[in-house]
Amino acid sequence: MTKLNITAQLKAHQSKLKLCTACGDMQGPPVHGKPINSSIMLIGQAPGPREIDIKKPFAWTAGKTLFSWFEQIGCDEIQFRNSVYMTAVCRCFPGKANAKSGGDRVPSKIEIQQCQTWLHAEINILNPKLIIPVGKLAISQFRTFKKLTDVIGSSFNIKINEHKTKMIPLPHPSGVSTWFRTEPGKSLLLKALSKIKANSAWKNNI
Ligand code: SF4
Repeated sequence: MTKLNITAQLKAHQSKLKLCTACGDMQGPPVHGKPINSSIMLIGQAPGPREIDIKKPFAWTAGKTLFSWFEQIGCDEIQFRNSVYMTAVCRCFPGKANAKSGGDRVPSKIEIQQCQTWLHAEINILNPKLIIPVGKLAISQFRTFKKLTDVIGSSFNIKINEHKTKMIPLPHPSGVSTWFRTEPGKSLLLKALSKIKANSAWKNNI
């Protein structure tokens, strides 16, 4: 498959995705990254309200933190957005969990299942060599685990559909999380970033 064909397929895919209204409790329109033909895929949880307004993933405070991590391994935000296919478990804003928590509602099983169709179509088009799931919900789509300390700082060989790939998980960069600011999270995050930097797909795409 040529590079142009893959980009054209991604554009056609995103045109259909933009019109999706399958989940009644989700707030759209669906958000997606650029149609980048990349062998690296970053998978977030779900956009927040700012991302819906701005129409791009990780466009607000969590994004600032996330891109500061990648800057530490030599890739700034512009380069990242132009080199990595950015996607998510769910593409619409789930709404707030409750006024007290300040966090976003975790998408329901059915919402995740419905949006998985879009994610798996992207995996089938791109056949990524490196998957970077960000946060518990995204990581749990590919691996069962109890605590973040069990998976952050490690890399895993996984199979999605018929595609064999490498997964290097990151914690969620949410402003309400303290996990990556305190030990052992701080050191495990650095370990995960150094594994990403050493990965061959990263070296070839960035
Ligand atoms: S969350 Fe996904 S499946 Fe649900 S409406 Fe949005 S794009 Fe469609």
